[in-house]
Amino acid sequence: MKRTLILSAGHNPRAKGAQVGDTSEYSLNCRVVMELTDSLRKLGVNPVVVDSSMSLTERIAWINSNYPEAICIEFHHNVFNKKAEGTEVFFKAGDKIGFDLGKKLLSLVASKLSLKNRGMKLASQSARGSLAWVSRLSHGLLWEVCFMDNPEDITRGVGFPETLAQCLSPEFT
Ligand SMILES: [Zn+2]
Repeated sequence: MKRTLILSAGHNPRAKGAQVGDTSEYSLNCRVVMELTDSLRKLGVNPVVVDSSMSLTERIAWINSNYPEAICIEFHHNVFNKKAEGTEVFFKAGDKIGFDLGKKLLSLVASKLSLKNRGMKLASQSARGSLAWVSRLSHGLLWEVCFMDNPEDITRGVGFPETLAQCLSPEFT
C-alpha cells in the first residue's frame, strides 16, 4: 500500500519567516507547494496539503491524529550571506523511510537544476538546533529549497516544483 504524501508550506501568515526585499519566505514556500501540487495532480498523485493558516504545532497535531504514517514534506528557503548556495533536506534520526526517500529526491533534483547538493542533515544540525516538523512526525522531511538572498540560487530554483513532481510521482503512483 502506498503511503499518503503530505505537503506543507513553512511558516504562516502571522509569522512569515525570512524577508528579502519585498519577498517573504512564506510566500515562496506557498508558491512551491501550490506549483508542486498542480504538477503532481497532472502526474496522477493527489497529495494532502496542510492548511497553511495553521501554526506549526497545530499542523503537527493534525497530521499525527489523521495521517500518522504519512510522508510529510515541509518547504522552506534559506537565508545567509547572499553568497551561500544549494539545497538540503533535514530528516529525523532513525527514520530510514524518510532518509532513503529524501536522499534519492535530493540528489535527483539538485543535479537536474544544477543546485549545489548540501546533503541530508539531522535536525540537530539546523541553525535552530531542533526542528519540530522533523522530530515530532514519523516521517517528516524539511526541505530548504535554495537560498532566497542569493539571486543566482533563486533563478536555479525556479523549476524546483515541477522537477520535484517528476521525481516524486513514481514513488506515490
Ligand atoms: Zn523557514
